[in-house]
Amino acid sequence: MNNIEQNLHDVRNRIALAAQKCGRSPEEITLLAVSKTKPVEAIAKAIANGQREFGENYVQEGVEKIQHFNHRNDLIWHFIGPLQSNKSRLVAENFAWCHTIDRAKIAQRLNEQRPENMPPLNILIQINISGEESKSGILLEELTNLAATISELPNLALRGLMAIPAPESSVECQIAVFRQLEHAFMELNARYPQVDTLSMGMTDDMEAAITCGSTLVRIGTAIFGARQYRS
Ligand SMILES: *Cc1c(COP(=O)(O)O)cnc(C)c1O
Repeated sequence: MNNIEQNLHDVRNRIALAAQKCGRSPEEITLLAVSKTKPVEAIAKAIANGQREFGENYVQEGVEKIQHFNHRNDLIWHFIGPLQSNKSRLVAENFAWCHTIDRAKIAQRLNEQRPENMPPLNILIQINISGEESKSGILLEELTNLAATISELPNLALRGLMAIPAPESSVECQIAVFRQLEHAFMELNARYPQVDTLSMGMTDDMEAAITCGSTLVRIGTAIFGARQYRS
């Protein structure tokens, strides 16, 4: 049995220590608990220990959990998985954030589908920073155009960038990749002042990400334990 209380405590300490080492304040860094494949009981434990922001990768599973916790109005739900067009409405109607926008068409759909009584959907553009053919996300050279398109859409709020770098063999290599994102993020922020979120860092690379200016780390395994996937 996983000790979610202890794990959350340890992760918060890792974040604080990494921030301290590079002269940042830990309050600048949001901890997103990635609860994909985990039961609502695990999420409830995290909530009982002060966690409020959760990330889900699968639309249907995420919506079920959001509905389960519907009686609470203090939770913030982030969609962080690959998004297909035919699922966009569920994201637009249920989530507060979407981290994985990598084409104008899906942004336009979310903009049309966002209910009028909800605040704008917070959007992060996903960057395929390691240039992997199999990965989603745009290349950095495509960022200017996609950001311009999104910034025109009234029901979306462009908030920043997200990336899932390929695993690296050392912290130095992780940092080299994250620096490229930091640079792109600073340029984007200079153009769009509302851009304030750099979503990078997972269980195995959160320290490097924080060193490079991450404002939101997405942590699954270190909080909830290893995931078991149904085949
Ligand atoms: C699963 C997942 C995470 C969490 O990864 P861990 O290594 O378990 O911390 C973070 N971000 C995304 C996009 C994910 O799919």
